[in-house]
Amino acid sequence: KSGFIGIIGRPNVGKSTLMNQLVGQKIAITSPVAQTTRNRLRGILTTPEAQLIFVDTPGIHKPHHQLGEVLVQNAKIAIESVDVVLFVVDGTVACGAGDRFIAELLSRSQTPVILGLNKVDQQPTDSQQIDDSYTHLAELYQWQTVKFSAKTGLGLPELQNLLIENL
Ligand code: GDP
Ligand code: MG
Repeated sequence: KSGFIGIIGRPNVGKSTLMNQLVGQKIAITSPVAQTTRNRLRGILTTPEAQLIFVDTPGIHKPHHQLGEVLVQNAKIAIESVDVVLFVVDGTVACGAGDRFIAELLSRSQTPVILGLNKVDQQPTDSQQIDDSYTHLAELYQWQTVKFSAKTGLGLPELQNLLIENL
């Protein structure tokens, strides 16, 4: 099995940290490709069962002006050009308008989505309300959810398995 995984999410949720942690030393940065792919980094993870090519994207902001619209347009192209989207959210804060904006964008695509709750190492002791806010979102769109820490590596084997299953 092999396929492209798009890492999508708000800025600062840990997308780049995650890709670096997943691909480790094997990081492969391709030369810049034309236009919309210019600022996307790729990393390849080879396991006995599969080859996963991760596409790290710039964070998606809810647009407030025309430049924002261009970024959203680019994100849409990124979503359509991968086999699976890993929608990364920040597990230290509850789901907000920025996440819901991206979720709505993703729901309009045919590309399968996995919701990845990151930074579990830094969650407050009572994280139930935070978790519930994302569970609610995942149930709304019927997405599978996985929790992990890109920083410590906790939960990343489970994440890998889920990604491979969805290829
Ligand atoms: P990106 O903008 O989504 O690519 O986010 P980055 O990968 O640049 O990470 C943003 C910040 O979150 C950095 O300070 C990271 O060290 C931190 N971060 C990323 N993943 C984790 C995590 O699993 N746990 C904690 N505690 N911090 C993290
Ligand atoms: Mg980044």
